[in-house]
Amino acid sequence: MTEETRYPILEKKTPVTDVAIIGGGLAGLSLSILLSKAGYKVVLFEKEKYPFHKVCGEYISMESWKFIAGLGLPLSQLNLPIIKNLIVSSPDGNFIKSGLDLGGFGISRYFLDHQLKEIAVQKGVTVYEESKVNEVIFENEIFTVKYNHGEAFSALVAGSFGKRSNLDVKWQRDFIKQKNNKLNNYIGAKYHIKTNFSDDTIALHNFKNGYCGISKVENDTYCLCYLTTAQNLKDNNNSIKEMEKNVLCKNPFLKKIFTESQFLYAEPLTISQISFDKKSQIENHILMLGDAAGMITPLCGNGMSMAFHSAKIAFENIDLFLNKKKTRAEIEARYANEWKHLFEKRLRNGRFIQKFFGKENATNLFIRAIKPFPFIINKMIKATHGHGF
Ligand SMILES: Cc1cc2nc3c(=O)[nH]c(=O)nc-3n(C[C@H](O)[C@H](O)[C@H](O)COP(=O)(O)OP(=O)(O)OC[C@H]3O[C@@H](n4cnc5c(N)ncnc54)[C@H](O)[C@@H]3O)c2cc1C
Repeated sequence: MTEETRYPILEKKTPVTDVAIIGGGLAGLSLSILLSKAGYKVVLFEKEKYPFHKVCGEYISMESWKFIAGLGLPLSQLNLPIIKNLIVSSPDGNFIKSGLDLGGFGISRYFLDHQLKEIAVQKGVTVYEESKVNEVIFENEIFTVKYNHGEAFSALVAGSFGKRSNLDVKWQRDFIKQKNNKLNNYIGAKYHIKTNFSDDTIALHNFKNGYCGISKVENDTYCLCYLTTAQNLKDNNNSIKEMEKNVLCKNPFLKKIFTESQFLYAEPLTISQISFDKKSQIENHILMLGDAAGMITPLCGNGMSMAFHSAKIAFENIDLFLNKKKTRAEIEARYANEWKHLFEKRLRNGRFIQKFFGKENATNLFIRAIKPFPFIINKMIKATHGHGF
């Protein structure tokens, strides 16, 4: 069936697509590949140019392995570090070690997103790079997507534009209107480093009002990534270096890493205004995916799997709509319900853990108290993870 017969109203508009995807991170790219493999016409807008770095801990839970391999990325041939152990340290340097039941693997976003984009292009997705979407209008069952180089028309739109974008602000989504609270106004920073650390372990080092993850990715490189409050930076004259020296390095593990490692970029990659507040899964008939639908705290190390998994359920619903098996209203309701069923509990648990881990004394006490019972850590991880999909 051609797009003209499917959507007679689109006949005079070009370019015409089945689905326009806004944002080419993990959620958007994986959705584009699934749709293109199923024979749909897809256009994906990404405001940056691939390859590019992203603030992310780069530890992916094993629950996504099969899905990513199914997209066409031969993970088992890439010699990636497989991560089976966890160390959590408190700001005072006490620590607990535990095996990870499910575990994960390390891969940089620079490499992963670029590879997925290449697969998307091979499968026939039209990828517009350096193309920032500024507005989406839904009228007479058609979406008009306005971006910095023109307009595109489509039957469906997926919003996979990450944690916080110009569109969130333009549409004044609820989380944007929230006043500062314990779940928003965080900053994130990331470095790639060469250091002396185990291949199969992820460490989570806590410090006052934040935590820092370290684990291996490809090319003998480690990802060092931390999250803290904007207030922490403000209290240190808005200087990242001062904050790292005065706050992070009070944890002896972090002091060792910061003084003995080779940093591959002088300045970290940073992002601000990160919010873990609730978000909606449908906005003006647009299906929201990945972080744009709801963000789990990085402490749980599972945002990337949620991005992939949300793309899978979005694909199944979009397929039903484009095959005329379900109406637009039906797939919107189904998608939002499935999303909530899969992720709402994890997000709630993640928010709870996040509130707890920010406090210096509470974290010190907590690590001391559970040291003899490392299985508790695995229970907490399970509460924020799902199963393979
Ligand atoms: C500090 C930190 C550490 C983390 N560590 C981990 C971890 O170790 N493991 C894990 O699983 N998860 C981690 N996460 C979470 C993970 O990074 C996200 O959940 C994941 O990247 C979400 O993917 P996404 O596709 O939804 O969004 P993204 O990967 O952010 O992609 C969104 C894309 O949309 C583009 N975009 C935005 N606006 C527009 C526009 N208007 N037009 C066109 N393009 C646009 C952006 O350029 C971007 O490429 C971490 C997050 C943070 C903040």
